[in-house]
Amino acid sequence: MTQRPSADVVILGGGIVGCATAYYLSKLGVTSVILEKDTVAGHSSGFALGGLNPLGGPGIPDPLGPLSLESFRLHGDLGRTLREETGVDTEYQLHTTINVAYTEEEAEAIRSRLLWQQAQNGFRVEWKEGEDVRAIEPRLAPGMVGGLVTQYVGLVDPYKLALAFLQGAERRGASMRHGIAQGIKYQGDRVVGVQMNSGVIHCERVVIAMGAWSSAASPWVGVDIPVEPLKGQLMRLRVKSPPLLWVSWGDCYAVTKPDDLVWVGTTEELAGFHESPTREAQHSMSESALKALPYLMDAELVRQTACLRPVTPDGLPIVGKVPGKEGVVVATGGGRKGIHLSPIMARIAADLAGTGSTPYDISFLAPGRSMGQATVAASLSDPFRF
Ligand SMILES: Cc1cc2nc3c(=O)[nH]c(=O)nc-3n(C[C@H](O)[C@H](O)[C@H](O)COP(=O)(O)OP(=O)(O)OC[C@H]3O[C@@H](n4cnc5c(N)ncnc54)[C@H](O)[C@@H]3O)c2cc1C
Repeated sequence: MTQRPSADVVILGGGIVGCATAYYLSKLGVTSVILEKDTVAGHSSGFALGGLNPLGGPGIPDPLGPLSLESFRLHGDLGRTLREETGVDTEYQLHTTINVAYTEEEAEAIRSRLLWQQAQNGFRVEWKEGEDVRAIEPRLAPGMVGGLVTQYVGLVDPYKLALAFLQGAERRGASMRHGIAQGIKYQGDRVVGVQMNSGVIHCERVVIAMGAWSSAASPWVGVDIPVEPLKGQLMRLRVKSPPLLWVSWGDCYAVTKPDDLVWVGTTEELAGFHESPTREAQHSMSESALKALPYLMDAELVRQTACLRPVTPDGLPIVGKVPGKEGVVVATGGGRKGIHLSPIMARIAADLAGTGSTPYDISFLAPGRSMGQATVAASLSDPFRF
């Protein structure tokens, strides 16, 4: 059996969370190896929209609000520092988003966080009634109850962000290996290595950042990591019309990205590990988009993609040390907000794997916590989950 060279920390998974963890570890002076079974950001992290909205989604404002806001602050810093350090432009930019409600029920759900949202520094959040929304975006279909207009949220290219994290880490000694993690090796309860398909990498600490595949690591650590794959699809459309703000309605959204294409999403499918785009999704997204944005009738479909969000039953990420094992940290379950939450998840994982502690309150994210009766399927009905 091949003996691979050792590293301080081995990170399982080269998605955005794994690459960002390597980056923050490198800032602490800790060397890591990222072990990836396919390609860097070759799954969800390379194909997500890249929307950064810290003011909405599962667990926000309570209990995730403070960490969500901190992650957004980190993105702001990273937009500049990663470009300086690596030369990679992650296309980070501030944006305006409009959450449109076509029913009273949707309006109520969208407005439910309004007071908290308006109290957060750095954003401008306003509820606008019916036609006032169309004064901002006249291409939206009439008939809406109203819309939440939020200024100064963000958008990023998630693939470029993952690459920038990786390059920043590599400049300070991290490295990437191709291989499949198959287990963790222990001496007593202390980590001594990672078993991969072609040998063992010796290390003292492991970070599990395997995205939608993270539950495969449950038997390696003796704690359930209840992450499920929630498939989502996106279409990129070419249309002759000025850029579209980031608008969302029901369970869909659309925005013009810096590639000048209108990205339209999405679906939420409990379809196992199937990652291929489907015609059914193309039809359902087109139908929804044409109802909300009839001008897209003239659009040309340039590309359709599909990928798997790592989702937990209670909607919160799993980040923390595995109880009873010395040297195992989990950082997964970013779900619908995994790009947005990647800096804070990675910063905490790097703190824990690099120094053993973190200043952030993460008790509610602990591996092995009780998730009660919560299920991923039930979370699909939350009208303000993106
Ligand atoms: C359509 C869609 C749109 C989205 N839009 C947004 C958005 O606008 N904003 C936002 O914040 N989030 C968004 N997300 C969510 C976001 O993409 C994910 O939460 C995030 O990318 C997860 O990152 P990750 O690193 O945890 O997982 P991944 O990107 O899946 O990375 C995990 C990596 O681990 C590797 N791996 C797994 N098992 C092993 C093993 N045994 N050995 C070695 N490697 C292994 C995999 O190959 C993979 O590369 C979207 C998701 C979808 C599907």
